[in-house]
Amino acid sequence: MSVDISGGVAAVGERITAACIRSGRKTEEVRLMGVSKFQSREAAEAAWNAGIRLFGESRVQEATEKFEGFREEKPGTELHLIGTLQRNKAKAAVSLFDCVESVDRDELIEELGKLAVSQRPLGVLLELNAGESSKSGYRAEGDLFRGAEKLLARPNLVPRGLMIMAPYTDDAALIRRAFRSLVQVQGKLETRFPEADWSCLSMGMSGDFEIAIEEGSTLVRIGTAIFGERRTGGSLTKGSLTGASLP
Ligand SMILES: *Cc1c(COP(=O)(O)O)cnc(C)c1O
Repeated sequence: MSVDISGGVAAVGERITAACIRSGRKTEEVRLMGVSKFQSREAAEAAWNAGIRLFGESRVQEATEKFEGFREEKPGTELHLIGTLQRNKAKAAVSLFDCVESVDRDELIEELGKLAVSQRPLGVLLELNAGESSKSGYRAEGDLFRGAEKLLARPNLVPRGLMIMAPYTDDAALIRRAFRSLVQVQGKLETRFPEADWSCLSMGMSGDFEIAIEEGSTLVRIGTAIFGERRTGGSLTKGSLTGASLP
């Protein structure tokens, strides 16, 4: 069974363009990330050949193996961590990733802040929790603001914006509400900490990226709509919520 990855990239690109036109936005405002977790290196290479430059991975170990030497071969590659980061993997994460999108606790900010070096500053997105059905992300706005303060105190961490995973549901209104809450928090951060750049809104996955674009997303994280189902058994291929928290 082979998946047409370049066809997938093209199809997603067209849907992004259509969503941008619908919502009066410029296509260049929305970056497309290929979420290559549980996919092979060959699949990631096929996506690169189809024009993908930004990749998302959920596990440090898997990404380290898959992307070994990748950047040297394929210049312009950018790699983001989108899954939960355990403290004991923070060091490896800092040397591998350009940005950690799933920063959801102060302890992790402290740890990353100690490990990041000035020659290679680490981008950070603060993750907001979307409600009961999701496990990750700052739950309370106040806690996220305190996290932002801690982040700004770390010279080698670069705030870039916010990330959210919408609830795993077919209810478009609930999904839209989650994305709107992220935009609201972004507005408050910009008022409170105007010295920093909070412009990145990482929201939208295969099942909901068009809604996300309508609500202001600047980065969509797309796995299955590009690569097809993930190479794992059973429930893991459902992905959206389970994938990030696998051991
Ligand atoms: C797996 C994952 C994605 C991609 O999910 P798809 O539904 O396959 O597009 C996006 N974001 C995060 C945080 C993920 O864990």
